[in-house]
Amino acid sequence: MSGAKINRVTLHHAGYIKAHNICKGSIIRIIRSGEIIPTHLETISSPEGAVSSLITHCPSCNATLVYEEGETVGAAELICNNPTCPAQLFERILHYVKIAEIDHLGEGILQGLYDQGYVKSIPDIYLLTETFLSGLVINGKNLGASRARKIIIAIEKAMVLPLPKFLAALGIRHIGKGTAERICSIFDTLEKVQAASIQDLLKVEKFGLVRAQGASEGIQKSAQLIKNLKPLVKIKIDSESLVLPRVLSGLRFVVTGSFSEANPRSQIEKLIQAAGGLIQSSPNQQTSYLVQGEGGGSKAVKAQKYGIPVLDEMGIINLLSERSEKLEKQTDNDEEEKEKPLLTMREGESSSEQESEDNL
Ligand SMILES: [Zn+2]
Repeated sequence: MSGAKINRVTLHHAGYIKAHNICKGSIIRIIRSGEIIPTHLETISSPEGAVSSLITHCPSCNATLVYEEGETVGAAELICNNPTCPAQLFERILHYVKIAEIDHLGEGILQGLYDQGYVKSIPDIYLLTETFLSGLVINGKNLGASRARKIIIAIEKAMVLPLPKFLAALGIRHIGKGTAERICSIFDTLEKVQAASIQDLLKVEKFGLVRAQGASEGIQKSAQLIKNLKPLVKIKIDSESLVLPRVLSGLRFVVTGSFSEANPRSQIEKLIQAAGGLIQSSPNQQTSYLVQGEGGGSKAVKAQKYGIPVLDEMGIINLLSERSEKLEKQTDNDEEEKEKPLLTMREGESSSEQESEDNL
C-alpha cells in the first residue's frame, strides 16, 4: 500500500472495534493516514452472525476487565482496575521516565530494574546510585560505568521538574502533557491542583464533565505517590510563568529545528502555549503553522506536503505581536466585545478533539 507492506493496523479503543463490528474474518478497508500510519477506514463485511469479541481478563494480572464508555462514540476502553497490576505499574514508571525526560534510562534497562525488583515504583528511580548501576547486569550484560554516569546525570536533572511536567509524568488518565499545561495555567501550585474540585476543573479549557471527573479522581488516587515523590523532586513553579493574551487559541503549531540561544525551542513552545496555541509533535492536516529553526528537515518536508505555512523565529514573534496589537485595538474599540474570539477556526477543526496522549 503506497509502496509499503502493511502487517498491522492501529485500533486504539475497544469501543471502536465494537462500533465497527470488527471480528475474526472481517474484511476491512484501510488507508495510510497522513500516508504513514495504517488506519481502519471501514468494515466492508463480517462473517454472518459474527460479533466482535473482546478479551475479558487482563493479560498481565488476569483481573476481570471493565468496559468503560468514553466521551465520544467508539472511544470506550477496556480497563484493568487492579491497582497492583504488574504491567500497569511498569508502564506507569516508564511513562514517568519518558515525560520527565530521564534520558539513557531506556525501556530495556528499566524493565531489567523492574524485573529484578530494584525499581518497584517511581520514587525508587531517585534512589539509584552510580555505583549500583555500573555493576548492574541486564540480559547477561554489564551496564558499565559510562552508561551509569549518564543515567545518573539524567536522574539528577529530573530532580527539578516544572509543575505541568510533574503532573503529566504521574500517568493520570485524562492528564497528558497538553492537559497538564492547561490545568496548571489555572492552578499554578501543586497544592492548588490537588485541592481543585470537579467544579473547579471544569474551568480548564476543553474539560467536560467526564474529563473533570476523571482528572479529579486520578489526582486524588495519586495522592500517596505525590507524597512519596515530594521529598525527592523539587517542583518548579514557573516564576517566569507566561500569561499572554490568548491570541493563538485554536491554532496548532509544530516547532522543529534549533533556534538561537535567546529563544531556544522550549522557549518558543512556551510562548505559543502561553498565548493559547497548541503544540503538536508532528505536522498533519490540522497544523496551522510550522515554526522552523535551523534543520528540522523531515517535519518541514511533511509540512510542505500539507501546504502548511512555515514561520522562522522572527516570524512567530511577529505573528504574536501582530495579533496582540490587533487584540489591544479591538479591546480599545469595543470593551463589551472583548470576549469574542479573535480568531476563527480553520475549516474542519474541532476544539473537542480527543487527545490520544491522554490515554496511558
Ligand atoms: Zn491487570
